[in-house]
Amino acid sequence: MAAGPEPGLQCGSMEQRSTHVCIVGAGIVGLATAYALQQQGHHVTVLERAPGPGTGATGGNGAQLSYSYVQPLADPGIWRMLPKLLLEKESPLALRLRADPAQWSWCLRFLGACNARASSATTQALLALAAESRQAFEAMQAAESLACELHTPGKLVLFPTQQGLDAAARQVALQARMGGAPQHVVDAAEAARIEPALAGHARHIAGAVHTPSESAADARLLCEQLARLLAARGAALRYGTTVQGFERQGGAITGLGTSAGMVRADHYVLASGWESAALARQLGLHIPVYPLKGYSITIDATGTPQAAPRVSVTDSARKVVFARIGERLRVAGMVEIVGRDTRLDPRRIDSLRRSTQEVFAHLPLDGALHPWTGMRPATPTGLPLTGRPRGGPRNLWLQTGHGALGLTLAFGSAQRLVAQMGKA
Ligand SMILES: Cc1cc2nc3c(=O)[nH]c(=O)nc-3n(C[C@H](O)[C@H](O)[C@H](O)COP(=O)(O)OP(=O)(O)OC[C@H]3O[C@@H](n4cnc5c(N)ncnc54)[C@H](O)[C@@H]3O)c2cc1C
Repeated sequence: MAAGPEPGLQCGSMEQRSTHVCIVGAGIVGLATAYALQQQGHHVTVLERAPGPGTGATGGNGAQLSYSYVQPLADPGIWRMLPKLLLEKESPLALRLRADPAQWSWCLRFLGACNARASSATTQALLALAAESRQAFEAMQAAESLACELHTPGKLVLFPTQQGLDAAARQVALQARMGGAPQHVVDAAEAARIEPALAGHARHIAGAVHTPSESAADARLLCEQLARLLAARGAALRYGTTVQGFERQGGAITGLGTSAGMVRADHYVLASGWESAALARQLGLHIPVYPLKGYSITIDATGTPQAAPRVSVTDSARKVVFARIGERLRVAGMVEIVGRDTRLDPRRIDSLRRSTQEVFAHLPLDGALHPWTGMRPATPTGLPLTGRPRGGPRNLWLQTGHGALGLTLAFGSAQRLVAQMGKA
């Protein structure tokens, strides 16, 4: 089933002639959209506040092209786990309530989506978008061969208990009926055979789900390569340029006020991650995108390559993902609902280090850990916002809200936006 537009979005149109499109944000979502537009012959300007591309949520993310694991955070199981998640000292989830109506409203809508019907509909919609995304990304890579440490080692999702593994087996069966990629439920010994670096940890798990077709890539490198390619083909990439406001006339945007002066185009795309909500608010639009903060570390595995996994691994007990990018291991996790607080909490970094030590005991962790934090631009349901916002200016397009799956979904979302823009 193809995902329909999110409530609050409407189908729009952009004439088939070449137009000038201005994109706010040079994260993976903005750049994938810029690439798709340029492929259709449009002139593209990308405005980015940072000095370079891929420095927002994209930069140090989990590096997984997670095409088969798209189940939203809004899951019915949350109700059972919530007390533990909120109260446990080492919990991967943190909620700091603020005097912020946007936070309360997001949380209530999120809880409203934590039911079996909504979660299954979202999973189905995201699987369809992920399949389109894989196709679009692979076509782009076949044409451009961008050096971004892309590889397809497969993925193992580890389950500590038989009960968890049985539930995962039901999800595997459901996704198989939806036409998903082949997945297998394996026992602990088989998981350790697939990924020998797990040998020491195998006795702590009941088993795993193995998906041989899953890929990983360095999202920041991908952004840098994409940005270079776009610029070489005539796009304007303007770094150190903050969009501050909008100039409007007669139901359309006529320009963006930026720290480097007014920028004019025919169409404007908000791909500014979690900060899209604040920009949209200036236009009187309330879009349900809220930051979910996460953390990562990156470990150099050059000296002991066998101690770090080649296969991507998700530890469902610790809610931590491990992905090999070249000779480095990226370890990512945590969800904090803490408003606009972008500070890096060293306790979270220590927790990621300890998780790594517990799962991959032979991996030396005495070198630099490259601590990182980023804000996932999340909608309550987990469905991204791609399209024209209802009641918004006629030349404004949203491309945001990709939550925990922006690297995975960026290229499919880009195709969808271009298709919507091209519809007469
Ligand atoms: C810990 C963690 C792990 C993750 N792991 C994965 C994973 O394994 N796989 C996966 O698919 N996804 C993963 N994600 C999610 C993914 O990283 C995000 O969904 C994705 O990066 C969002 O991309 P974006 O381009 O929308 O936002 P961003 O990358 O945040 O880009 C938005 C850009 O807009 C710019 N901007 C904002 N406001 C303005 C303004 N006013 N003017 C100019 N520029 C502006 C920002 O500087 C930023 O560069 C993870 C995220 C986190 C935090």
